[in-house]
Amino acid sequence: MSLVLISFYYLPKESDLQMTLFISSYLFILGLILGSFYNVVGLRVPVRESIVHPPSRCPSCETRLKPFDLIPVISYLLSRGKCRHCCSRVSPLYPLGELATGLLFVWIYLNFGNSWETLTGLLLVSLSVMITVSDLKYMLIPNRILLVFTPFFLVLRLLYPLESIWLHFWGAIAGGGVLLFIVVITRGGMGSGDVKLFCLLGWVLGLYNIIPAFIIACLIGSVVGGGLMLFKLIKPKQPIPFGPFLLIGSLLSFTFGSTIISFYLSIFN
Ligand SMILES: [Zn+2]
Repeated sequence: MSLVLISFYYLPKESDLQMTLFISSYLFILGLILGSFYNVVGLRVPVRESIVHPPSRCPSCETRLKPFDLIPVISYLLSRGKCRHCCSRVSPLYPLGELATGLLFVWIYLNFGNSWETLTGLLLVSLSVMITVSDLKYMLIPNRILLVFTPFFLVLRLLYPLESIWLHFWGAIAGGGVLLFIVVITRGGMGSGDVKLFCLLGWVLGLYNIIPAFIIACLIGSVVGGGLMLFKLIKPKQPIPFGPFLLIGSLLSFTFGSTIISFYLSIFN
């Protein structure tokens, strides 16, 4: 929420304000609806279930959910996080995934306005939500999700590179390379899904931005991992999914990359 508030600071001229508010509200609602679909993709694709059939059911009592139960966020709030039939608890990850998609869609639009970077950003958010759900639930980053997004990112960057296309080429090599190196030295402490994911993210972000993305991912990953161990929520050496951290780092770097780098360089000048 605070991200959205901060970004109002960057709002364009007053004449554009109404238009910006209109498009932001539209993208927020679109994000809520798509977020609900992304949850389904993240939960079903890794276990090779169809994303359209069967229709959504309560995982406890198997009652088929009615349209009333499927309104993003609102259904969850109205039913106080419980199934209306068997009263079993509904995971808060569902409304959180929906809300995150809606807010991040707005966040991307407020940063990049009417540009192709916005489309790239919306795709990046979509990929992030699906992979996060899948990695948190199954510790898996499905090839099929990555393969659906790859052609879109390839074409967008070939047509609209940040500086030159080589920046993105070397970004992909660096992103995939650094994770492959970690996989080799930790002997499988990280999955091959992470390598492919960060290679794709490197292509999208480019060489300069993939570096802060990796540093942020490691920082947040060690803070969260350390915290979970400290409070004994996980056992020592129990693996935690790294995909969500790579994605958080990449989204931050995608929007703030140039600011982070110029701040870093200004320390030395
Ligand atoms: Zn139920």
